[in-house]
Amino acid sequence: MPATTPSRPWGGPLRWFGTTGLIAAVVVAIGARLGPGPALADEGFDPNDARLDEAAALASDLGIPFRAVRFADFAVVSDLPSDRLDVHGATLAEAGSDFFEAMSRLGLETHRPARPLIVVIFSDHREFVAFAQRADGVEAHWMGGYYASGSNHAVMYDDLGGPEFLQAADQGLCPGEVRAQAARATREKIRHEAAHLLAFNCGVQSRTGDHPLWLTEGLAESFARGALSGSPGQSATARHDDDPVRAFYEQSRAAVDAIVHSDPARLAEYLRSARAAFAVGAPAAFDLPRPPGASGDPGGPTVSAVDAGR
Ligand SMILES: [Zn+2]
Repeated sequence: MPATTPSRPWGGPLRWFGTTGLIAAVVVAIGARLGPGPALADEGFDPNDARLDEAAALASDLGIPFRAVRFADFAVVSDLPSDRLDVHGATLAEAGSDFFEAMSRLGLETHRPARPLIVVIFSDHREFVAFAQRADGVEAHWMGGYYASGSNHAVMYDDLGGPEFLQAADQGLCPGEVRAQAARATREKIRHEAAHLLAFNCGVQSRTGDHPLWLTEGLAESFARGALSGSPGQSATARHDDDPVRAFYEQSRAAVDAIVHSDPARLAEYLRSARAAFAVGAPAAFDLPRPPGASGDPGGPTVSAVDAGR
């Protein structure tokens, strides 16, 4: 079964409301015909474009209304209406640009992906769960999204179609607020999963090696909403004593943020040496500090974790 790196857990109905931001998803950008830059939707792509053939085939398998749409270095397969898809595509394109900038600040060399990076975004949570099981053997009912290294695609759903936000709407919460919170959750999720796709396809991490889980998730979380995004970071780290998985993601983000602030060269050197070691089948020398309190990775170096609802 392919390794998966899920988005941060959702943690129960509406838990996200009134808290700091959550899950993220980040995606990698590909050596694209349109090149880097702003979100570039290409709804009229040539179906014979070899760079989109895999995404187009996936869309065809899923059936109408699914379609493959290219945004900069990404190929998004989705049944979302164009207005929402364009927003998410813009987030992906921005994530791609931000990621290369962040790696450059670290002093890491990257390369653009050879093919569009596939991101599947469902409008319906149940369809997301069914697809995860069918396509990747992933039990995803608790996840907000995941990146599967075997199939090398990221899969998620728009939070407007997620159980928490549907429930919020049913409970009579302000529709505008529900939509705003769902949009924020989906944006962070997209940046998180995009970070995984980019890291594993652009020369930062190796799909054939076992990187420490806290580092993989910490990089994605830090990129989604922490120091790697260029933000000053979040000084306070919630304990989440009642939610160890959520605590793990938060602590992993905090650990990577701290290293980015205090010793970015060490982080870059570790990533460089790990990639070189994995390339020849050797274990990576590991000399990065462990994140505080994260001794119990929920799923081991290549994971599979968790989430209820996202
Ligand atoms: Zn992740």
